[in-house]
Amino acid sequence: MLQRSSIVGELDRGKGSNYKSPIANYKFFCSPYLMELRKDPITRSWVITGDDVIEPTPRFQACRFCGPTAEPAQVIANLPGLDGIAWSARSVVHPHALYHIEGEAARRADGLYDRMGSVGAHEVLIENPRHDGDLWNASDFEVEQFLRLAALRIQDLKRDSRFKYISIFKNHGAQAGQEFEHPTSQLTATTFVPRRVLYELRAGRDYYESKERCVFCDILAQEERQNLRIVEARGDYVAFCPYAPRVPYETWIMPRSHEASFERSGSSRVGSVSDLAALLRRTLQRIRTVTEAFHLVLHTSPNSQHPSATLGYWKTLDEDYHWHIEILPIVEAKARSYTFKEIYYSPVASETAVKRLREAKI
Ligand SMILES: [Zn+2]
Ligand SMILES: [Zn+2]
Ligand SMILES: [Zn+2]
Repeated sequence: MLQRSSIVGELDRGKGSNYKSPIANYKFFCSPYLMELRKDPITRSWVITGDDVIEPTPRFQACRFCGPTAEPAQVIANLPGLDGIAWSARSVVHPHALYHIEGEAARRADGLYDRMGSVGAHEVLIENPRHDGDLWNASDFEVEQFLRLAALRIQDLKRDSRFKYISIFKNHGAQAGQEFEHPTSQLTATTFVPRRVLYELRAGRDYYESKERCVFCDILAQEERQNLRIVEARGDYVAFCPYAPRVPYETWIMPRSHEASFERSGSSRVGSVSDLAALLRRTLQRIRTVTEAFHLVLHTSPNSQHPSATLGYWKTLDEDYHWHIEILPIVEAKARSYTFKEIYYSPVASETAVKRLREAKI
């Protein structure tokens, strides 16, 4: 089964430049460019649209990422493995990439509308060489290697000034739109900032303007003081259910120490990343006692190489934004799709959800 990623991102303006991509390993290939980006003039959200060719995948196809039948993929980066294993986590070009690395976005008008080419990067992050090495049953070292790979890829792609934002996400389970059987996450680098992140950036900037404090730091401080919605804390990292969840059992993981960019935390000293790895593994184990399918998304700072005067969130970005991981479980029986897109309906209170997650036998 091949499905398009459920999270592909939407939003704001892209600015062309002549900067050459830092990714020497990308081989340029002929892409049909069937997809393009169009901006909704009302909501100002970018959507990726076009007549995409979605190739049917044979039902019992062997894994393309492991075993003797693995298809050669364009490897972008490898992290070394232990005990003679060639690699522990690896990034490859997505076999059906939504965004393509070559060219310019060529943003242009179409009457009152805006459109641009789907320039960007789309990679598959292979979390583990083992086909059954999912994040929740891998070792802390393996999860840590995956997190370090994610940090390295973000750092590398942020050197390309065409890209405004690097997204890392994981869709697990059929209801989440999982694409590959092998344990994988995905990365996209886009010429715009996804809508949800833009909301957070604006909110962070506005809160900081009036209080000179980071809203995320304040949220975490209150959550720890009240201790009503904390799932688990480990070292500098805290997993908690947000006060106003979008879906039942929504859980965030956030560092206590203020830091806008995941990639700075993710490439830092050993102990800190292994705490995050352990907390991520344990939180996913807890969520999986409730449901198998989930979306996971990493929210980190946008590429500030090219400050945008129109957006204005760059001046205090390092002080007002705070990276975090959001996990959105899919609890089918509780879903009411008609309310989902307009108003979030979450029929399990966070205070109830946290009890079940805390007491989960993991
Ligand atoms: Zn596999
Ligand atoms: Zn903060
Ligand atoms: Zn977020």
